[in-house]
Amino acid sequence: MSGKAAQSLKEPDRTNPLRIVQLLLRQAVELLGLDADVYEILREPRRFVEASVPVRMDDGRVRAFTAYRSQHTNALGPSKGGVRFHPGVTADEVKALSMWMTFKTAILGLPYGGAKGGVVVDPRRLTSGELERLARAYVDQLVEVLGPDVDIPAPDVNTDERIMGWMSDEYERLVRRHAPGALTGKPLVLGGSRGRREATGRGVVLAIKEAADRLGLRLRGATAAVQGFGNVGGATARLLHALGVRVLAVDDVEGGAYRPDGLDIPALVDYARARGTVKGFPGSADISAQELLTLECDIVVPAALENQVDAEVAEGARCRILAEAANGPTTPEGDEILDAKGIFIIPDILCNAGGVTVSYFEWVQNQTGLYWTEEEVNERLSAKMRDAFADVFRMHLERRVDMRTAAYMVAVGRVAEALAARGWIAPWTMPFKPRA
Ligand code: GLU
Repeated sequence: MSGKAAQSLKEPDRTNPLRIVQLLLRQAVELLGLDADVYEILREPRRFVEASVPVRMDDGRVRAFTAYRSQHTNALGPSKGGVRFHPGVTADEVKALSMWMTFKTAILGLPYGGAKGGVVVDPRRLTSGELERLARAYVDQLVEVLGPDVDIPAPDVNTDERIMGWMSDEYERLVRRHAPGALTGKPLVLGGSRGRREATGRGVVLAIKEAADRLGLRLRGATAAVQGFGNVGGATARLLHALGVRVLAVDDVEGGAYRPDGLDIPALVDYARARGTVKGFPGSADISAQELLTLECDIVVPAALENQVDAEVAEGARCRILAEAANGPTTPEGDEILDAKGIFIIPDILCNAGGVTVSYFEWVQNQTGLYWTEEEVNERLSAKMRDAFADVFRMHLERRVDMRTAAYMVAVGRVAEALAARGWIAPWTMPFKPRA
């Protein structure tokens, strides 16, 4: 992002994901020479639902949780995106996350618009029964605005295939028909796709490979640090390790694990599964999130939450590639500093798009009833990530913009093309050929 753009955000908007994504959207609209109507249509979600979701707790009392679903656009198809369970969820965050989904599905050429959901809850404080009732109640409150051709939820932070199984069952119970395509990231037995669980991490690693190729970095023997060891960070660390990358540090909400000559990731995965954290892994030292993100290594992968790479972290950053596995991990100020230091950023809307890509494959399999092998899924994912990376990289070179700006330009161009084709913006406002 250009310095001017970053500075145009005033405190406290500098870490408000909605303000940040609106700024990036506006910048892309301007650089592409599109009509301001494109910004007007896309700057807010077309539909935003806030619900109070009552759940009977194990002690017999009812607790009402605040829940959201943001449906950004349906210009390219039904809206698509995960549901996160986190105590820090806010309305603006969910809106921004839904916009990022629009842009990542557009970059990958998927027939979707973006959506996102969230519940303000710390799921670690719920029993399994309470969690199930919350998942079901969420679907119950939103069923009118969901469906395979309307809006398709999936896992996100702190939600997984077990929760998708409950939600899918609840959806089918309410609509009284089999509808596996209403949600993705389901257990295999309910129509989940092979390869979905690791898909986001696999996509991150595919994007890192593409970047490394272009930078002349050999991955075997390269070094990496991964922030977050959940759905995404865990798979990314495992797949990097399998490629011969030395993963020096990982962390989670409880703490970190650092070993200067590389962690034994398969053993760490077992350890984390048994203990619920990577902290205390034998032979490793603890490491803070800030130390991890500023570690001297080839690749840093923020795979946790928004705004982790701020100005201070960016000043200290010593990596060659920042692979944004999380959504919105870098603040505009952090972005500008990394850019000035020549650190190659693989922007979130490209880097972490592997998850929704395999969600799309899952939905296609559900619609057709024909199920693919894991090799087939992974091959198709590789091809999609390779093409998407190439499209963004070409825009980066041709228009001499940073990778993030290039990613937004590719994405916004495609959404605008659909808006024009639908007659929502005048076709003469499309002065360029968006499909690079
Ligand atoms: N929550 C994931 C994301 O942020 C996946 C969404 C999906 O599969 O629909 O991209």
